[in-house]
Amino acid sequence: MSRKTVLHIALKVPFAPFLDYLLPDAFCQPPVGARVLVTLGKRTAAVGVVVGVSKESKHKKLKTIERVLDEVALLPEELLALLNKTANYYHAPLGEVIHMALPKWFRQVQNKSVPKQFWWKTSATWEEAASLTKRSIHQQTVFQYLLQNQPLTSKEINHVCNNASQQLKQLEKKGLVVSSELCFIDNQVVRKPEFVLTADQDHALKSVSQTSGFNSFLVDGITGSGKTEIYIRLIQQQIQQQSQVLVMVPEIGLTPQLFNEISERITGRLAVLHSGLSDGARARVWEQARHGQVDVVVATRSGIFTPFKQLALIVVDEEHDLSYKQQDGIRYSARDLALLRGKLQDVPVVLGSATPSMESFALAAKGQHQWLRLRTRTNRKPLPQTVLQNTNQLTLKHGLTHDSLAQIKRHLSQGQQVLVFLNRRGWSPKWLCQDCGWIAQCDACDAYLTYHKHSDRLTCHHCDRRYGTPEFCPDCGSQDTDVLGVGTERVAAGLSDHFKDHSILRFDRDTIKSANDWQQHLDVVRRGEPCVIVGTQMLAKGHDFPKLSLVVVVNVDNSFYSSDFRATEHLAQLLIQVSGRAGRAETRGEVIIQTQNPGHEFFTLLLKKGYQHFAEVQLEERTAMGFPPASHMAIIHAQHRNEAQLMQQLEPLAQAQLGHPDVSVLGPIPAPMQRKQNMHRMQVIINANSRKALHQFLFQAQSCLPDRLQWIVDVDPILLDS
Ligand code: ADP
Ligand code: ZN
Ligand code: ZN
Repeated sequence: MSRKTVLHIALKVPFAPFLDYLLPDAFCQPPVGARVLVTLGKRTAAVGVVVGVSKESKHKKLKTIERVLDEVALLPEELLALLNKTANYYHAPLGEVIHMALPKWFRQVQNKSVPKQFWWKTSATWEEAASLTKRSIHQQTVFQYLLQNQPLTSKEINHVCNNASQQLKQLEKKGLVVSSELCFIDNQVVRKPEFVLTADQDHALKSVSQTSGFNSFLVDGITGSGKTEIYIRLIQQQIQQQSQVLVMVPEIGLTPQLFNEISERITGRLAVLHSGLSDGARARVWEQARHGQVDVVVATRSGIFTPFKQLALIVVDEEHDLSYKQQDGIRYSARDLALLRGKLQDVPVVLGSATPSMESFALAAKGQHQWLRLRTRTNRKPLPQTVLQNTNQLTLKHGLTHDSLAQIKRHLSQGQQVLVFLNRRGWSPKWLCQDCGWIAQCDACDAYLTYHKHSDRLTCHHCDRRYGTPEFCPDCGSQDTDVLGVGTERVAAGLSDHFKDHSILRFDRDTIKSANDWQQHLDVVRRGEPCVIVGTQMLAKGHDFPKLSLVVVVNVDNSFYSSDFRATEHLAQLLIQVSGRAGRAETRGEVIIQTQNPGHEFFTLLLKKGYQHFAEVQLEERTAMGFPPASHMAIIHAQHRNEAQLMQQLEPLAQAQLGHPDVSVLGPIPAPMQRKQNMHRMQVIINANSRKALHQFLFQAQSCLPDRLQWIVDVDPILLDS
């Protein structure tokens, strides 16, 4: 009898890192990292990945695998090592981690080969295109969309024009666009910069390029100090050595911009990777990176798991950005995994930001990151001028002070554009009884309802339940009920009324539902006529509006009352990001912050002394309070329909602390939002002196939680409630 071969197969199951299966005698043994098809449970076909081979198993009755899907490993050894570490670090089952990292295409039960993709890019200027496409509005639309979002697959253009591929062919015939199957081989015409590097840039560039092996760097440079220029030169150096670079960016919206900047300046094959691509296109980029057919991959969060043939450098732009942290499923931080990956593969990692996270600051201060500071703006333009507007005791009109309105008017009359930023959509965040103070709440969540005038409905922003507006107060019967506070819808409507001769554009999730909406809105802004943009978070970063000279920030005060110790850090980063939108224009930018707390120490620090100083004080406070980055934190979030049962099932955790002197456990306590979608929510906050102690505690904690309880663990949480 032949000796049996047992394969350890990682599958998407919550209860074990892998399951054992037998290799049928007739099959060739698949390598570790290859996919196989197995039956899970009675009948379910599932794709799994071989993570180990052995001669025996603890289990008696083993099923055999059905098919081998890859002859060579789809997941190279280094990537498997990263996934293993990820599973350990975030206390998640290996199979689920692998499943999350694999592009959907490779998780299909029908093993189809990865489809070809054609990537389109413009090869002419808009002026050239306009004169050659005079008679076709469709071609113009497609060209323009491509110009601003390239490179794109024709599928990604379909939504702006029905027969995009036809139009693309026409444009190609006219020599206005080019397509390539292999992502992008960049043309030989490379734009050479006409400037010399600043001393800071030069130092930063040399520091990174002189290292070999793993080293981490924090490029800490104000907006416009030339960080991107450093990335570009580092990338170019790697390409010349036939090595590959992974560039991480926080959001899809930012990929085309950085991509264009890079592609104009280097001779190499580039690819973008983000969740907006089709499954096939994502799988294609994976393959190309794995086979060394692209030199640079510009990717969002999940791109951190891209396999490379010859990875030599990882760049994480805007490293402080919250979108690097996955907020559902396995809560990994792509920034932190970049550092881990750099260590595992022994390659340098460059983190860049104008407003570094406290975590990165702390590491830089300890010397664990080399701290590369860029303190001069390359264009020598001053940073925008910021003033605080005290909104106490002032009557606001459309949410704005009299002064803000006057300033908006002045900028518009000078032909400039204005951004009014507030992080609240809808007409009004509350609906209130004037007589007894009752406020409309969601039936399923502990949350106030937002009034949307357009639909004349009260909406819960946490579960999307909708309600009619009440005719009288359910508590006291009064008919005197009304809205309270302002959201983007109300501010925009008020401004339209106030500035009848100018367009008012609203950028929020209610007005921007597709990439096409985005484009149409952006086109209006880019035409450059004076206008007011009212927008949420969506607009805070990345986008260059050359005519924008004034930013008004409405309602920042919630952050001062937040229970989250990171609230002011996030506010500081946001304010600097938003301010950065003003003053790319010829005139010096201005920023107005409307607040009820103009005397708050926060403003004194941030506005008078700058982010760096703010960060130092923040770090001291965190150290004094024993919060991250001075400590190591994890949160166990649990939910249940029944509050008492939830409490009871979490009880063992309170006991688990015994025997872990380096760990302090807070809870179980109610989550900041106690009830969401009719589920009761509690959390246990674990704060430890050392990472080791934190992990030891988490291992033990997991083993004492009941199987049926719905819970997740968030290691290094960046939001206390989510
Ligand atoms: P950041 O990424 O720090 O915001 P960028 O790298 O985008 O800054 O640089 C801002 C602008 O300055 C870009 O247009 C860039 O081409 C230009 N630039 C970069 N370095 C220099 C330099 N040393 N001298 C002059 N201009 C520069
Ligand atoms: Zn009432
Ligand atoms: Zn709700």
